[in-house]
Amino acid sequence: MLPKYKRVLLKLSGESLMGSKDSFDPIDHRIIAQYAQEIKQIIEMGVQVAIVIGGGNIYRGMNEAETGIERAQGDYMGMLATVINGMAVQSGLEKAGMYTRLQSAIKMEQIAEPYIRRRAMRHLEKGRVVIFGAGTGNPYFTTDTAGSLRAIEIKADVILKGTRVDGIYSADPEKDPNATKYDKITFAECISKNLKVMDMTAFTLCMENNLPIVVFDMNKPGNLMSVVTGEKVGTLVSQ
Ligand code: UDP
Repeated sequence: MLPKYKRVLLKLSGESLMGSKDSFDPIDHRIIAQYAQEIKQIIEMGVQVAIVIGGGNIYRGMNEAETGIERAQGDYMGMLATVINGMAVQSGLEKAGMYTRLQSAIKMEQIAEPYIRRRAMRHLEKGRVVIFGAGTGNPYFTTDTAGSLRAIEIKADVILKGTRVDGIYSADPEKDPNATKYDKITFAECISKNLKVMDMTAFTLCMENNLPIVVFDMNKPGNLMSVVTGEKVGTLVSQ
């Protein structure tokens, strides 16, 4: 089977790495092992994979009123959290037999390469999975924005946003039983219908640079493969 996309950027939230609610462990190695198997399948098809991972399972800086920590300071803490997750994912992928590189937007030479766009693209050409840590390296952004930005920079064909739900719905499916799922939707429709796919900065970057987004359920085995081979899984947002 031929993949639909040659180079993808997979965006995973930090929370997706969390085990069950009653476990205090922010990183569940079984989930990472499962994701590694999914990723391995598409690597073996020749798809080039870059990953941006969030940090919400460890720390979220956004809300100064809640954290009591100045916003910018908290945001940097959040970025460090994404590096911890990136290291965990890197270990999991290597355990599953893949070659990986972790690049950080904040310099930490002992554990990650600095983010260098051309180098990242070279790694991808060689079949290495490149994990981008520390978000954009700037406070006041999210890892969704980091995902959109890096995807555009490395000329990925699509950003794959792995979530807990299987796509974009007309309303919140957990609250509204009449909510219907879109297989396909345009950027403009998302805005006019006020559907929150990503935060506005991330979404606008994709729209302005014509980078399609696929929102899909990363926890369903085989789904990543299905998305990459162009099967009707999740929701495709495009122009
Ligand atoms: N963050 C940031 N700049 C970035 C990316 C992330 O300041 O470019 C901070 C921000 O505080 C954010 C935290 O890192 O709350 C964790 O990222 P995010 O909330 O996007 O993670 P996710 O929700 O995907 O787990």
